[in-house]
Amino acid sequence: MFTSKFPEMGTTIFSEMSQLANTVGAVNLSQGFPDYSPDPILFECVAQAMKSGYNQYAPMPGMPALRNAVAEKYTQVFLKQHGNSTDVIPPNADTEITITPGGTVALYTAIATVVKPGDEVIIFSPAYDSYGPAVIANGGVPVYAHLLFPNYMPDWDEVHALTTSRTVLIIINTPHNPTGTVWDAAQYTALEEYCNKHNVNVLSDEVYELITFDGVRHISVLSIPGLRHRAFVVTSFGKTFHITGWKIGVCIAPSHLTAEFRKVHQFLTFSVNTPMQVGLANYMLNAETYLGLSEFFQRKRDYFRGLIGSTRFTVLPCKGTYFQLLGYANVSDETDVNFAKRLTTEHGVAAIPLSPFIPGNVSQPVLRFCFAKENSTLELAAEKLARV
Ligand code: PMP
Ligand code: GLN
Repeated sequence: MFTSKFPEMGTTIFSEMSQLANTVGAVNLSQGFPDYSPDPILFECVAQAMKSGYNQYAPMPGMPALRNAVAEKYTQVFLKQHGNSTDVIPPNADTEITITPGGTVALYTAIATVVKPGDEVIIFSPAYDSYGPAVIANGGVPVYAHLLFPNYMPDWDEVHALTTSRTVLIIINTPHNPTGTVWDAAQYTALEEYCNKHNVNVLSDEVYELITFDGVRHISVLSIPGLRHRAFVVTSFGKTFHITGWKIGVCIAPSHLTAEFRKVHQFLTFSVNTPMQVGLANYMLNAETYLGLSEFFQRKRDYFRGLIGSTRFTVLPCKGTYFQLLGYANVSDETDVNFAKRLTTEHGVAAIPLSPFIPGNVSQPVLRFCFAKENSTLELAAEKLARV
């Protein structure tokens, strides 16, 4: 008789809601992916790479050209934000950057690198749904700290109180999925103090690093010397270049942690598909391909928020990511999962409930809507929401 390792685990809410949306033909603002085409120039770069013979295994840590492009991205972003690049120390492409098959596998590999059986990991809830299961799969224990509605910021006293001698890792995610919050410098100061006090490593999920709004800047853990030496940073090309289906990501960590990370990576992944790495590297030679992302998504966010004005939903703050939380207390008193399903089947708009991201499935009257969509899709969704 086979005994399940995960007897309580169901199917991820992303698959569930996208499947329901497809079945009933609803406008799908649930799972986060664009419904418009990525840049055709990127396709040409990949096709060119294939034609030029880049079709066999890539080096285990990733194609050097792509790792260089990732390092250069930090200089370019800093230059755009501050007008000079002298203060930024980009990660070392040889010893600190590893290309992975998506952000999810980068997260899993980092967790597998750090967590031993019985180790505890602090996770802020609501949390992206892969963190907890990855900890459990490696014999660890997820310990949840709360990000409370409506401002969703950490309570550092709670985080300290939850920490024990078994705590080895804290997972942070800013810009934050699903709430759209972005940490300011004070949060990093608290994190640094926390990590020093308890000697805990950091896993920083920065997949939405380039998507922030209203002049708010993303602060990378890499820019904080007191944290950088103990941190794994995860990013994803899926979010940056509108190619979620390509599943290519990055893990950046100091050389001693990267050496350990690659011990796991070499047997979990070995290498990531070659022509897409080469194509991305060539595409990124033009920094304009990624420097305008915040402006692009701010237009979408503002457009969507404007459309919601004609509905009974309330618009919550959104400082980053391509997700907008909408409150539905004026519309229904159902639990978020029930309301999300009824919104999909009866009103034709799919969104993501937050309770599956919260231990104990605590429901609040908010749903997450993805605005990485054509304006016509957002208009259609808003028309339907206005009739709710
Ligand atoms: N972390 C967060 C917060 C995400 O929203 C996503 C998107 N699915 C990922 C990690 C995983 O990224 P990828 O699609 O590259 O695996
Ligand atoms: N990151 C995306 C989201 O949050 C998709 C996640 C997934 O499909 N696993 O919607």
